[in-house]
Amino acid sequence: MGRRRKATAGETYLFVLLLIGAGLWKTSPGLAIAVPAGLFVLLVLAASIRSKCGVCGQELRRVAYGGTLGGGKRVKICPDCASEMRRRISRKAVGRLMD
Ligand SMILES: [Zn+2]
Repeated sequence: MGRRRKATAGETYLFVLLLIGAGLWKTSPGLAIAVPAGLFVLLVLAASIRSKCGVCGQELRRVAYGGTLGGGKRVKICPDCASEMRRRISRKAVGRLMD
């Protein structure tokens, strides 16, 4: 059996759109076009909204670090917080060595 390739988010989204479109096509062809188009617009709008740093909340111009914080929640972290986290981790590691 071949290894299953993990679908990307975009592929999954297209698949869902196709399913919604196909399902609605039988009942209402107009909705079959309007609903996926509306979802697409929403997605574009959501993507255009600036993401914020998961630690300090400032707007991100570029993501320095994407990781998981406690609770398994994915967050984006700004350069400042990323370097602060690195410092904290290394301080902890150094502290362990000094014990
Ligand atoms: Zn930050």
